[in-house]
Amino acid sequence: MIVADPKPFLQVKGYVEDFEKVLVVGCGTCTTVCLSGGEAEVQILASGLRIAFGKDGRPKTILEDCVQRQCDVEFVLPILSRVESEGIDAVVSLACGVGVNFLADRLGKTPIFPGLDTTFYGAGMQPGLWAEMCAGCGSCIIACTGGICPVARCSKHLLNGPCGGSEKGRCEVDPANIECVWQLIYDRLKRLGRLDDLRNLLPAKDWSTAADGGVRRTIREQLYDIK
Ligand code: SF4
Ligand code: SF4
Repeated sequence: MIVADPKPFLQVKGYVEDFEKVLVVGCGTCTTVCLSGGEAEVQILASGLRIAFGKDGRPKTILEDCVQRQCDVEFVLPILSRVESEGIDAVVSLACGVGVNFLADRLGKTPIFPGLDTTFYGAGMQPGLWAEMCAGCGSCIIACTGGICPVARCSKHLLNGPCGGSEKGRCEVDPANIECVWQLIYDRLKRLGRLDDLRNLLPAKDWSTAADGGVRRTIREQLYDIK
């Protein structure tokens, strides 16, 4: 899932200072699960904005909505019609950056502002705690590392073993909170009886599939006959 954190309230308030009718839209998928952009968070942010602008003596109309996903056209169509039919001046999105971009491309002259800071692709470790697991590099190498990703989970993104700062299984960058991923890889390969895999040097990684080569697209031609 994509993990995102709420932006500071005053930052979001500042975005919409100049608008009278504002729609706060949540996303029912990733940001709902990571407790930053679902229905409940929409209600909290919208109420906060109403109270804050009311206290300033400048009450505004703050509307609320939440769609299942802000990154698929069929789900955002009701938002687009609502913005047009209700004369909404600005939108605050509590989706990840994908959803904000997707709506921005379709909102015409209505501005949209992010209510969240999108952070990483992660997994829920325990209630209220998510950790990064994948960096979306586009050329997955974890067949060689026991299914554990050094690109995303090594603080230095080392691909051929630990640095000198790995101690007692902890990462020198933050020993209290970060496990050394190369220790995890070692332990995992040992459990699998595949420690010899560590003797294979990984070739220089092909970063052309990562985020630096322009906007990446995925087309499943066999499903949709898209040229
Ligand atoms: S190697 Fe790349 S695609 Fe595979 S888990 Fe790591 S970041 Fe994600
Ligand atoms: S201690 Fe381990 S996880 Fe931390 S930077 Fe070094 S190799 Fe990477």
